Amino acid sequence: MNNIVGNEATRPLSILKLNPTLGVGGGCSSSGYKTSGGACGSNGLKSLCIQPALNLEEIHTDVAFDQRRLNLGTTPDTGTLVTLIDLDLTVACNLRCTYCFKEKWNEHMEEQVAFDALVWLLHASGSAKEVHVNFMGGEPLIRFKLIQRIVPFGKRRAWQMGKTMHFGTTTNGTLVTDKVVEFFKKWGMGFHTSIDGTPDIQDRNRPMVSGQGSARLVEKAVPKILSNRPNTTARSTVVPESAGSLVESYRYFRSLGYTNIAFVPGGPSFWNKESNAVYEQQFSEIGDIVIEEFRKGIFVNVKGIDEAIRGIVRNQRPQHACGAGRGMLLIDIHGDMWPCHRWNKASERVWRIGNIYEHFNQMARAELDVRCQTDLLEQDCEHCVANKFCGGGCPAENLEETGKVYKRHPNACEHTRVWARVGQRVHDVLHKEGNPLFFKQYYNREMTA
Ligand code: SF4
Ligand code: SF4
Repeated sequence: MNNIVGNEATRPLSILKLNPTLGVGGGCSSSGYKTSGGACGSNGLKSLCIQPALNLEEIHTDVAFDQRRLNLGTTPDTGTLVTLIDLDLTVACNLRCTYCFKEKWNEHMEEQVAFDALVWLLHASGSAKEVHVNFMGGEPLIRFKLIQRIVPFGKRRAWQMGKTMHFGTTTNGTLVTDKVVEFFKKWGMGFHTSIDGTPDIQDRNRPMVSGQGSARLVEKAVPKILSNRPNTTARSTVVPESAGSLVESYRYFRSLGYTNIAFVPGGPSFWNKESNAVYEQQFSEIGDIVIEEFRKGIFVNVKGIDEAIRGIVRNQRPQHACGAGRGMLLIDIHGDMWPCHRWNKASERVWRIGNIYEHFNQMARAELDVRCQTDLLEQDCEHCVANKFCGGGCPAENLEETGKVYKRHPNACEHTRVWARVGQRVHDVLHKEGNPLFFKQYYNREMTA
């Protein structure tokens, strides 16, 4: 370790009352599992962050002065400023999802590393005023006691540096109690829920360690979460075996109260022509339902459909797939830095960007930290129906499937094309009908239908 400075940043301690304001960001919306189809939502995640009314001067964090360390030598001095971190508070989890890629169990982040990671982010973000921390794991709520300590610390330290720190968490939902919801509400924290579908699908894909199903626990938590954060996303990892139940799962999510829904195909190499066709048939039916929802004046954001429509309206291809390795990093339980939460496997050591106590290796992220990622793709994007919104899929998945971050598996492209076709149809129908909600939502125009 080097350059460790125990110097609390100072700021005139006038009372700063912050009013609730809205900002954008709040961490990766991926469940932390194998995803496909173009990013997990980490790239400028559109979940709203709320800065609650807090008297930050009066926050007492009980973190001793000599424990507030900062390693000035480990922040990037070139490339994109880091403004968002996923923080693996643990790799332990109370579920055993059939597709989970995590390689280790029952290991936790030391408390000091969690505090130091927040301080690291405040310095790595340079001149940026807003920073975001998303707790991940494993199941991060296993460390709820730690969360209760580091959130006030982070808020206060950020304020002392003239910044705002937003917090969110990706959770499997099984440990969300009233106390958790109350704490999240107090500190303006967001949730991202991983839930696969109807109870039978959830129980099959996401069993507890004991082997029992997790659906009932999650079902109990969802109303608590949505009453606090109605825009929380239900994120489903779709495997070929559950592709035929998307419509049923959509209706189930809607019955729970979700209006933000993501059906993201996992592991493209497990799919084939038949299962792709089933996915398209089901997703297309969801497109019909979304049209009906708009006709009733209900805005439902379905990942893929929403992105495709936004691409049509914007008429310009995004330059990046996501923020991995650029404005966003994962800090794992050891303080090691990686492009994102999918990149911390022993087999991918070459992608380790450094450690918050040791060094920052700009070279390790150089392949991702480029001006335009989509220019580097090996696909024939020019003739693809998805090229208005596709940023080239999840680079981590591309690496796993093809050995290259800028080369996609054909099935991954096919799933993105399904999104494009369905999104185009939803757009065209609602546009032709002059649907007022649609125009307000996507064209920012009032329509008198
Ligand atoms: S590389 Fe990481 S952040 Fe980017 S889409 Fe994939 S899982 Fe999400
Ligand atoms: S071919 Fe289409 S789906 Fe594949 S990366 Fe290019 S734009 Fe995306």
